[in-house]
Amino acid sequence: MNLILFGPPGCGKGTQAKRLVEERGMVQLSTGDMLRAAIASGSELGERVKGVLARGDLVSDEIVIALIEERLPEAEAAGGAIFDGFPRTVAQAEALDSMLAGRGTKIDLVLRLLVDEPVLLERVTGRFEQQGRPDDNPETFKTRLGAYNAQTAPLLPYYEGQGKLTAVDGMGSMEAVSAAIRSALETVGS
Ligand code: AMP
Repeated sequence: MNLILFGPPGCGKGTQAKRLVEERGMVQLSTGDMLRAAIASGSELGERVKGVLARGDLVSDEIVIALIEERLPEAEAAGGAIFDGFPRTVAQAEALDSMLAGRGTKIDLVLRLLVDEPVLLERVTGRFEQQGRPDDNPETFKTRLGAYNAQTAPLLPYYEGQGKLTAVDGMGSMEAVSAAIRSALETVGS
């Protein structure tokens, strides 16, 4: 089964993806984690994207699509992928659909985590203080939220049109959100 965890920065995608990995043995494909690893390793790719992440803008579709494509066989072997932070543009969603179709598979479900903006800001500020992730600072967070609203939210009608979108209340405790995700997953029967 292939699942997309969808929502703005700070909505809990990463946390819930990690829980699903533990529960189901699926593979988490987080383009944000891949890009941060590239930056930490000092690779050529890392050098290219460093400034973009620091500003809170989106890196090019071409780069993230290539990162995902490289990891699809591994996810397939594990029984499916949890896409976390990808796709973020309509072009990425179309590329993902065609990459999966080429492998005889598809996206089964898109879970949208609903969290109010003040709560997002509160969570990301807390994460900034605890983990010191530079792009969690309040100024950059505003840019990231702007990118979500302008470039990523248009994916909602895309997946709605495919009949794959399910909304989950993301405001509750980690446990409550996990439970809501579990019941949404039962609807796709795996
Ligand atoms: P995340 O950890 O998912 O919040 O991603 C951190 C940053 O990595 C984002 O603010 C973007 O700069 C970049 N990024 C991650 N995933 C993507 C994507 N699918 N498309 C474009 N940029 C991305």
